[in-house]
Amino acid sequence: MNPLRTLILAAADNATVKQVLATAPVSRAVVRRFVAGETTPDAVRATGELVGEGLAVTLDYLGEHTTDRALAEETVRSYLQLLDALHAAALSDRAEVSLKLSAVGQEFDEKLALDNASRVCAAAEQCGTTVTLDMEDHNTTESTLRVLAELRRTWPSVGVALQAYLRRTLDDCRELATAGSRVRLCKGAYAEPEAVAYFGRHEVDRNFVRCANVLLAGAGYPMFATHDPVLIRIIAERARWYDRRPGSFEYQMLYGVRPEEQRRLSLSGHTVRVYVPYGVQWYGYLMRRLAERPANMAFFLRAVAGR
Ligand code: FAD
Repeated sequence: MNPLRTLILAAADNATVKQVLATAPVSRAVVRRFVAGETTPDAVRATGELVGEGLAVTLDYLGEHTTDRALAEETVRSYLQLLDALHAAALSDRAEVSLKLSAVGQEFDEKLALDNASRVCAAAEQCGTTVTLDMEDHNTTESTLRVLAELRRTWPSVGVALQAYLRRTLDDCRELATAGSRVRLCKGAYAEPEAVAYFGRHEVDRNFVRCANVLLAGAGYPMFATHDPVLIRIIAERARWYDRRPGSFEYQMLYGVRPEEQRRLSLSGHTVRVYVPYGVQWYGYLMRRLAERPANMAFFLRAVAGR
């Protein structure tokens, strides 16, 4: 992994850096580029704007690594409130939610995380939408897939993210490329050891393509989460090869990243879903976005310097 990326991801766990950024007024402006706001109405407003432009949405209430029950409960309530608000605004047919299991108790009680995720899935179903489980660092993969399997017994449309940088992911794709399943394939955003993850950029990209082939050849619904123009082109070619029509798979991109490409793909008839994060706990999310792209870091530093 490139050293700048490793450094920024290390800062993602650093309480002092977090404190400095959280109190610098200028960071608010930077955060707004990648985060829709802090409240449910902010999230609904951003969703309405994107849906108005023909895009689909998945919403993430920011927060992760929760270590106590009360915070996990607060996260669940935020999702329930969000789902109600989306339904009331007639947006829930175009907007689903993304859930990090570590935000609802996974780190200290997997059963609690399953129960909490079940409450979110039940509410999503009532509102006519569904849930996708985000994938976090590799220590959680096994547990997340276990919880997914349980959830899918009641809600078969619950989706999951798989990370192309993990060596195990091709097998996980084979396992999940079945009728009714929804898999979001992404490169992966955490600093992982070489024992479990491909290290070089090309190796990760190659594995992304291998996994994409398996998902497109299978009977499930693939969701390709990448901004990479080369991969987007390859996916389009492979989709034709596997006779996948627009609507039988989708592209996903992050809020604030390549918005013109999001609209271009959507105008050409594809389903494009924008991942919209919101909430006060934006720090870990922002640091991962900065680590992905030096230009994002430059944008951030310019803003901090007041230019
Ligand atoms: P990168 O290698 O970061 O970028 C490749 C190329 O894309 C760049 O060279 C450039 O040409 C273009 N590009 C990238 N960013 C920009 C930009 N800002 N402006 C212009 N061009 C740009 N990770 C997880 O670990 N777990 C998850 O659950 C998860 N969910 C995700 C959901 C969605 C919808 C998306 C889009 C990503 C998700 N990620 C998740 C993050 C993902 O793993 C990557 O870290 C992130 O998407 C960056 O990878 P990339 O494929 O865009 O390619």
